[in-house]
Amino acid sequence: MNAVELQARSEIVTVSQALDAAGLVPNKSGNVSCRRPDGFLITPAGVPYRDLSAERIVPLALDCATEPGDLRPSSEWRMHAAIYARRPDVHAIVHTHSPRATALACAGRGIPPFHYMIARAGGRDIRCAPYATFGTQELSDHAVRALEGRRACLLAHHGMIAVGASLESTLELAIEVETLAEMYWRALQVGEPELLSDAEMAKVLEKFRTYGQPCRAG
Ligand SMILES: [Zn+2]
Repeated sequence: MNAVELQARSEIVTVSQALDAAGLVPNKSGNVSCRRPDGFLITPAGVPYRDLSAERIVPLALDCATEPGDLRPSSEWRMHAAIYARRPDVHAIVHTHSPRATALACAGRGIPPFHYMIARAGGRDIRCAPYATFGTQELSDHAVRALEGRRACLLAHHGMIAVGASLESTLELAIEVETLAEMYWRALQVGEPELLSDAEMAKVLEKFRTYGQPCRAG
């Protein structure tokens, strides 16, 4: 394993354990991957996050073949493969069953522009993809569609996906989406919140694009 590969694998372990510590991947759910020149690296199926190590991360080739001796990849590897194939801008993917985003997804609700930070996910809303059985091509297709022009989406009766240019920024986005899901859920307790207009969201998106990292926005 060369130094670049070792670094990428170690980063996947760090991000996975950060998600676990933040309570975003309850009971071994969720998975993390990053692109590499000939495919991608992904967390293994069924290994507790505390037991992950660089050696246990699974390399998948572009045709999704594994090497003999590797652990089985996460059961959601198809979803990751489909996103990398369709989105050249994506270099990292975080998938969670984080409780707040998943609760909204179970109600079939995406997250509308109730707060300007929705723009962090790349557009005026965070869509909810229709339900399909986990691990299927059908779910992968739904996810790719819900992510069009976006960096995050919810998956009905399942969870959420965040994508990005790096593992670090994708972890931050996954935490942001979970935070927004909690805020939206709480706002709904008070009453249906008024939404920001398309014109206002376009302005925010432009500011994020022009003024550097949206995560440092005030
Ligand atoms: Zn899942």
